[in-house]
Amino acid sequence: MAGAGIVAAASPLPLVVADPLVARQGELLRGLVPAGSRALTLDDAPVTLTADGRYMLGIDRDATGDHQLAWVTQDGRSARRRLTITPGTWEIDHLPARLVNQNPNAAPNPAWEALRTAETTAIKAARAETTPWPFWQAALVWPATGRISGVFGSQRIYGDRPAAYHAGLDIAAPHGTIVKAPIPGIVRLASDGPFSLEGNIIILDHGQGLHSAFLHLSRILVKPGDIVAQGQDIGRIGTTGRSTGPHLHWGLTWRGVKVDPLPLLPAMPTAEGQTAYD
Ligand SMILES: [Zn+2]
Repeated sequence: MAGAGIVAAASPLPLVVADPLVARQGELLRGLVPAGSRALTLDDAPVTLTADGRYMLGIDRDATGDHQLAWVTQDGRSARRRLTITPGTWEIDHLPARLVNQNPNAAPNPAWEALRTAETTAIKAARAETTPWPFWQAALVWPATGRISGVFGSQRIYGDRPAAYHAGLDIAAPHGTIVKAPIPGIVRLASDGPFSLEGNIIILDHGQGLHSAFLHLSRILVKPGDIVAQGQDIGRIGTTGRSTGPHLHWGLTWRGVKVDPLPLLPAMPTAEGQTAYD
């Protein structure tokens, strides 16, 4: 792959700070403040700033209102910008309450709950590890190509009870299709003892709080601690865990805030030998 080095090639970014800054719900905002700036905060919480003034912010899918980005300029003045959140558009399915697939009268299952706690703890621990290396600055490539079978933010509402929204991008492709690293990263979790919902899972650390999770894999080709280059083969598509057919679920999080990978990607390349899926 071109540019498959460990040090990420920076993607083009705006050279001025827009006022107000505008970001969409579910967006990973990648921005730039003037060189030499320091002490960047969002609503008084510190945000990592690279030496050349680059930063990223994850905007929650349900974030609203105005926020404030502030920093100290090279000559010691304080600067601030209003950050305005614009609404995302989500696929919402309204279904009758009787179709909810959880039985509220089901007996508690302590064994399952203990297993689930161990799995979510492992996922949280993997996302708590983050390198200061700014791998996230690379322009993303598709980890696999195929039919988009699920989009970020979509949600089923049963009667008046919303189910959890879909927090990733689903790419349907034949069982065994290679999954590539969309940007460089460090493997923080690689488990082929399938998790009950996620199946075989890989979590990559892209630096400064950004992580990818790849779910439902049939095979895992990396191990924890591996440093992977952009475009490197990391696993194979499968249907392990809670899944109805072979596909890749790719979730992207910034400090645990779930963001949409799709707007960060170029047009999907047409791969030779790729089965059209529909
Ligand atoms: Zn999914």
